[in-house]
Amino acid sequence: MSKVSVKTRFAPSPTGAMHVGNLRTAVLNWLLARAHGGEFLVRIEDTDRERSSAVHEAGLLADLAWLGLEPDQPPLRQSERDAVYQRHYQQLEAGERVYPCFCTAEELALSRAAQRASGRPPRYAGTCAGLDAAGRAARLAAGRQPTLRFRVPAGRTVEFVDRIRGPQSFASDDIGDFIIRRADGSPAFFFCNAVDDACQGISHVVRGEDHLANTPRQLLLLEALGLSAPEYAHASTILGDDGAPLSKRNGSRSVAELRGEGMLPLAVLNYLARLGHVMDDEGLLEPSALAAGFSLARLGRSAGHYDAGQLRHWQRLAVSALQAEALHAWVAGAGGAVPAEPERCAAFAVLIQPNVLDHAEVRDWARVVYGAPDVPDDEARALCRAAGAGFFGCAAAAAEQGWAAVLEQVRSQTGARGKLLFMPLRIALTGRRYGPELPALAAVLGPAETRLRLQQAAAWCADASGG
Ligand code: GLU
Repeated sequence: MSKVSVKTRFAPSPTGAMHVGNLRTAVLNWLLARAHGGEFLVRIEDTDRERSSAVHEAGLLADLAWLGLEPDQPPLRQSERDAVYQRHYQQLEAGERVYPCFCTAEELALSRAAQRASGRPPRYAGTCAGLDAAGRAARLAAGRQPTLRFRVPAGRTVEFVDRIRGPQSFASDDIGDFIIRRADGSPAFFFCNAVDDACQGISHVVRGEDHLANTPRQLLLLEALGLSAPEYAHASTILGDDGAPLSKRNGSRSVAELRGEGMLPLAVLNYLARLGHVMDDEGLLEPSALAAGFSLARLGRSAGHYDAGQLRHWQRLAVSALQAEALHAWVAGAGGAVPAEPERCAAFAVLIQPNVLDHAEVRDWARVVYGAPDVPDDEARALCRAAGAGFFGCAAAAAEQGWAAVLEQVRSQTGARGKLLFMPLRIALTGRRYGPELPALAAVLGPAETRLRLQQAAAWCADASGG
């Protein structure tokens, strides 16, 4: 692959929110283009007017922008390319490579059922392939709207080398004549997808393996049009943890949901770049480094499994790598009780950085810090009771002089050290047995709130011991 020759595209149909499986296809195309200093394009495949919507298109583009998968040219919309498609229909008509098909949906269903019943794979029986001009005219006069079918040449073997799956071979006799223009005049997928790849000069098509069987049809079509074909690479399907195709049921998330949960783009990219792909470097990598380590040859042929735990692993690394400004913005985006005032928010962000993975956890800590401590669990209660009301009383008395004074005071008054010193204090301040560093936490709480929480712990211990 030479440096300038690689041009990839992501070609979503804007019929719903983008999910992880689809996003992975975008990521693979982006990585391949960037790995070779090539171009990455986005094409909106919106020929299904009923199911496509501008809202979904805007959502897809926003998702790509959020991940930094910016296309190198403005996205192309198939709904605006009718003139291009007309030219190619005319070329095929002139060469008699296509014919109008008047079969109704019911007739086609009956024919398929008959084929199945006699043990043959269902494919178009060629009913309208031999209609003469008079037959066509009669049907048109009767008001029947034809589709346009591509005449698949008989007795051919269509071969290509899939860049992931290796050599592929299909008998053209197994492929029925297929529709390239629907009865309503709109272009069918096989046609506009292949024509656009050729017109846009796409060098590599990376797409899901569910499209593998479409490729011989598209190759025959491109050949009939005298257009050159891209290289195809059909990536394995992503399965859920239960082995079924990825769906809402087994953990799939839309990109918008991941963003809403506070997942970081870098974490999502690092995860998806490694899903079914071996990367030498196991650390968190910047997008350009992910691209440098990417190769189609390293993509596995077997199905990848979506693993939310792995995504959280990359999220952990991405959160700890956040620098001050980005960290602040990420924490501020969580909402809830996170302080709006920039300085307070920044201090809170630094405090909780090692303890949070997503926005729910950020909000949870904000509730504990700016609201009230959690109700301690049984183990935490036992630890506090063991420390005793006097422990918290002397801690509270020193709180106004700062955290060092609190520790000093408790140590000297009770002799507590290590876990027996820190754990009751942590529980008093947060209700939890784990969490941010105590000196920083006390600074964020401020002396008055620190004292109040220590006093509450003292009162609670006194009550609990019946004193
Ligand atoms: N619009 C098609 C899809 O979303 C594109 C397939 C392709 O990449 O060629 O499945």
